[in-house]
Amino acid sequence: MKTFRRGSSTFTCDVCKRLTRETGVQSLGSKLCPQCWDLAGIENEISDGNATLADRRDEVDQLLKHIESKGGDLSEWTHLMPTL
Ligand SMILES: [Zn+2]
Repeated sequence: MKTFRRGSSTFTCDVCKRLTRETGVQSLGSKLCPQCWDLAGIENEISDGNATLADRRDEVDQLLKHIESKGGDLSEWTHLMPTL
C-alpha cells in the first residue's frame, strides 16, 4: 500500500491526469476529477442499459470539452467521443 499523504487537497486524476482539487465527491477511493467522475457515471448508466450514448451526447460532449480545455488526457474516453 502506498503512503497516503493526508492534508493534501489536490491530486492527479487517474483518468485524465489533470491535477485536480478534492471536492468530496471522489471519496470512494477513486482518484477522479469531477468531470471523469460524471463520465464514469454516464458510462455505467449506458452499460447498465439505463441510457444510451445518444441520450447523453450533449452532456458527454460538454464534459469532454471541459477536460480538453484544461489540458486533460482524453485517451481513456475515446469510446465516448463522437464518431465522425
Ligand atoms: Zn479526470
